[in-house]
Amino acid sequence: MTGMIIEGKTAKWEIVCGLEIHCQIISKSKMFSGASTHYGSDANENVSFIDAGMPGMLPTLNEQCVRQAIKTGLGLNAKINKYSEFARKNYFYADLPQGYQISQFKYPIVGEGFVKIDLEDGSSKNIGIERLHIEQDAGKSIHDISPTKSFIDLNRAGVGLMEIVTKPDFRSPEEAGAFLRELRSIVRYLGTCDGNMDEGSMRCDVNVSVRKVGEEGFRTRNEMKNVNSVKFVMQAIESEARRHVETYENGGTIEQETRQFDPATGKTKVMRKKEFAHDYRYFPEPDLLPLVLDDAMIEEIKAEMVELPDAKKARFVHDLGLTPYDASVLCESRETAEWFEKAAYGHDAKKVANWMMGDFFAMLNEKKITLEESPISPENLGKLVDLITSNVINGKTAKDVFEIMAETGDSPDKIVEERGLKQVTDTAAIEAVIDEVIAANPDNVAAYRGGKVALMGWFVGQVMKASKGKANPGMVNELLKKKLS
Ligand code: ADP
Ligand code: MG
Repeated sequence: MTGMIIEGKTAKWEIVCGLEIHCQIISKSKMFSGASTHYGSDANENVSFIDAGMPGMLPTLNEQCVRQAIKTGLGLNAKINKYSEFARKNYFYADLPQGYQISQFKYPIVGEGFVKIDLEDGSSKNIGIERLHIEQDAGKSIHDISPTKSFIDLNRAGVGLMEIVTKPDFRSPEEAGAFLRELRSIVRYLGTCDGNMDEGSMRCDVNVSVRKVGEEGFRTRNEMKNVNSVKFVMQAIESEARRHVETYENGGTIEQETRQFDPATGKTKVMRKKEFAHDYRYFPEPDLLPLVLDDAMIEEIKAEMVELPDAKKARFVHDLGLTPYDASVLCESRETAEWFEKAAYGHDAKKVANWMMGDFFAMLNEKKITLEESPISPENLGKLVDLITSNVINGKTAKDVFEIMAETGDSPDKIVEERGLKQVTDTAAIEAVIDEVIAANPDNVAAYRGGKVALMGWFVGQVMKASKGKANPGMVNELLKKKLS
């Protein structure tokens, strides 16, 4: 059981949470018009008559958006519905010039599925997917340019979205966080959404309720709209759940409403009472035919699927002997996973993983560079590990060689060769150094022989220093013990 339990005065409570995630579809043009989806254009630069809701304009469905939704559905282990329909969701808002949003309601393009999440304690859990449907995005109202006027930017109006709805399966903030990270890496692997929550291309609505441990059924939920980071989603779940528990424990009731999470206070506050679904007066979109998919198209998309993070993780654990945790860190981004694979196959993969997650990531951070800009190639990291496992250099020298690789981009063999860094594994040579150290420190030798065995570490240090770090530490230990006893 990985759920979070909240202790009340009278009972133990558990969290119930479901997420609705809007993912902006990666495609060159909008869902129902040919206007560009380019992010960062000047305001209202990418607006066709269709996006502006001009009378008499007719939408044309962008096939690329449909393909992206199918691909994502397959990535969510979900049922692809060969028949789906578009529906009008009617509401008035200044940034929605049509007066309605084209969405899907009764018949979404993707049905039930699941996503497997891996938790820190080593357990894993499947989170149910209720559905995925496609719809168009609205424009953006801008209130912070003038104190007296509001402005509208319609560049985003009509951009394709996938709304992914989960079952109320989350029992803790950690589970929701793990799910969002997993979903983000799935859509990034697939190239269907860039997953950037801070740019708004992935937006999350968070539904929360609580119930007594052991209670059947669910209680009334509240929804927090557009929470824009994984951390805030997790905070919003916890603070909202605690508010529910407190309310119930004090004899109060929770009413269904839409709330807003305020990162500054870490608390939620009421935005509006929830409109019921029928207020949108959904009806089938008369300007678009039902969407009917054929098997050939679905098969074609299946054939284009890349290996997803979950399968990659399993392979890293099974074939390369990584721990599930290390595998999930390395698989979070496809680029990282592919870099690791190049470095690891044919070498000691666990050592490569340790170097990559330790010194290598630290080096990228310090230099503020990306993986592609790394001066160290995956092949060279693999070779460095080989030099260690075959005892050509010791661990300490390896750190120095790594530093030089990060500066010069040279191969570790070349560095070791040119700078004479090969480890000394010649018994006679090491013994000679030990003899010198023993001769130079009669007092410590006497103390050691007199029972101060902790001095062993000091002796090892002296010998390593005298060999300029090149002696094999295991051999130094062994030979020292013999000579000192
Ligand atoms: P609506 O039709 O009002 O949008 P849905 O049934 O589609 O409601 O659910 C919306 C989201 O709320 C889903 O992610 C679902 O998992 C979640 N949800 C539903 N009921 C609860 C509940 N009692 N507590 C927490 N989350 C819930
Ligand atoms: Mg809904």
